[in-house]
Amino acid sequence: MNRRQDKPPGAPARAAGADDGDSTLLDLRILATSDLHAHILPHDYLTGCAEAATGLACLAPLIAAERAAAGNVLLFDNGDFLNGSVLAEVAASGAAPAAPHPAIAAMNAVGYDAAALGNHEFDHGLPFLASALAAARFPVVAANAEPLDDASAIAAPWVLLRRTLRDRGGRPQALTIGVAGFLPPQVAVWNRAQVAGRLRLRGIVETALDVVPAMRRAGADVVVALCHAGIGADAAPEAADPAAENAALALARVPGIDAVVAGHSHALFPGPAAAEQPPAVDPARGLLAGRPAVMPGHAGSHLGVIDLTLAPDAARGWRATAWQSRLVAAAAPGAGAAPVAAAAAQAHAATLAQVARPVGETAVPLTTYLALAEPSAAVALVAAAQADAVRTALAEGPHAGLPVLSAAAPFRAGGRAGPRHYTDIPPGPLTVRHLFDLSPYPNTVCALRVTGRILRAWIGHASALYRPVAPGARDAALLDPALPAYGGDTIFGLDYRIDLAARPGPARAGTVLFDGSPLDDDQPFVLAVSSYRAWGGGGFPGAGPDAVIHAGRTTIREALATYLARIGRYDPAPRQGSHFRPMPGTTVLVRTGPGVAAHLGGRHAVLPPDPADDGFVQVRLVL
Ligand code: MN
Ligand code: MG
Repeated sequence: MNRRQDKPPGAPARAAGADDGDSTLLDLRILATSDLHAHILPHDYLTGCAEAATGLACLAPLIAAERAAAGNVLLFDNGDFLNGSVLAEVAASGAAPAAPHPAIAAMNAVGYDAAALGNHEFDHGLPFLASALAAARFPVVAANAEPLDDASAIAAPWVLLRRTLRDRGGRPQALTIGVAGFLPPQVAVWNRAQVAGRLRLRGIVETALDVVPAMRRAGADVVVALCHAGIGADAAPEAADPAAENAALALARVPGIDAVVAGHSHALFPGPAAAEQPPAVDPARGLLAGRPAVMPGHAGSHLGVIDLTLAPDAARGWRATAWQSRLVAAAAPGAGAAPVAAAAAQAHAATLAQVARPVGETAVPLTTYLALAEPSAAVALVAAAQADAVRTALAEGPHAGLPVLSAAAPFRAGGRAGPRHYTDIPPGPLTVRHLFDLSPYPNTVCALRVTGRILRAWIGHASALYRPVAPGARDAALLDPALPAYGGDTIFGLDYRIDLAARPGPARAGTVLFDGSPLDDDQPFVLAVSSYRAWGGGGFPGAGPDAVIHAGRTTIREALATYLARIGRYDPAPRQGSHFRPMPGTTVLVRTGPGVAAHLGGRHAVLPPDPADDGFVQVRLVL
């Protein structure tokens, strides 16, 4: 065991350079990207527009500048680098050159020292991931995803990087930097179809308590934790919840870790203070439990920078004595961007061709601005395509006689991605890019066998998105901004209204109608859902392996294409009203994108944007 003190150095973070007089000190700069989701060029394939500075090509000049300004620099990626953009989906579909994968080619062009796996790395299965990583010119780590067989060993738990660095006196010093990767153990649920029987997922902190001492014993002078997880709750390492999805703060308390790169929740750290956060989080100085940390946004929006000052230490080689962390926002592509852009050029061209392919037509606008408040033709189309695919798949099987319902939620609906991140498809021709707009992830169509009782509980679970509203309240906030829109399922095929004044829990018996009659708690149904939902994503009651009666390989996008090819033109019967039971004299505000104004037709008032709220507007709903 090394003799490192278990508590982090007690001195507050000091500016690097505070010990300028000591030539034995060594400055190490750690650069980090996270949640790139294969965003390489500043181009939005959904709108066809150039995007303001985002993507790895826009970070490359910043990386070059940070490298030029410091002698000892390492660059890491913190996961979700391979999947999650239109370009990546086209690459995975085989419609672009297969190798090397454009995300890997671009990362090779930038030159990474190591990368961690995120949850979305598994979206297209382990063989796809393994073949993409075969071209990577950097090691890949994931400590808490343990392979159950050799074929599933796609990443090392951790690596030791042996580097000759220079101290402030200009003398070469051999340092060993240990780098370990961590990801949400929920991968076992979210990506069950890809990882079941192949990987064992462990808790983030419990794994770190094993691997960090092992890295130190193996000679690590410095330990960097690449934690593809959000900040989460505070906990002593021994008491940390092994099931925690977001565990970066608890991880930062594990003895022996010098720097934490967080991610997954796509937030900025250091950055604006969250509404509620544990006192051990210092968003101004970028400290988690006193240790330096960054979370560099998503899609290449920011570069994370952690500067460590290391002092030689007789007992254990080197000790961090001062640190600083900061984010740098991506800039327009400049010097250094060209090789990265070139690495993705072929895939970019193939993606542009692919997204332009026609798939059908819509007679009505498809938008998600108010999808959590009133019927949305965009969500209804997804639900109809899911139900259609499930009916086809179950035809003539043992479940063929059951009524098929379909649960769907808006995907692109604001949140951290901003006020322009909404589906807004005008009436007219539909192309492949609209399918990506409606269903960005490669989730497949699945079916669950459920009962009326489960459906009432499902509705109650989805209603947790809404804040309780007292009768007579004026302009109460409708949504809890901390909860993602994709948890807001509507069940198509049932007739119900959510009671915003009700306490949490299942929809009351008798308030949900099927075929014009109150839902029978014991009646069996088939519920068409996404694979994410089917295996337990979002924690809906009644989902999970025991309830899955169909899990095919048809993606929701493919189901949409099939459905549109069959119907030709989407022209649903108009649906009016709201998701909510009437509450006379009560109004609520829905935070949404300014594009909503063009779709209201005078139905609701739009309040002007709050300048402090990044361009979102509020729509007033009269209940
Ligand atoms: Mn991500
Ligand atoms: Mg993630």
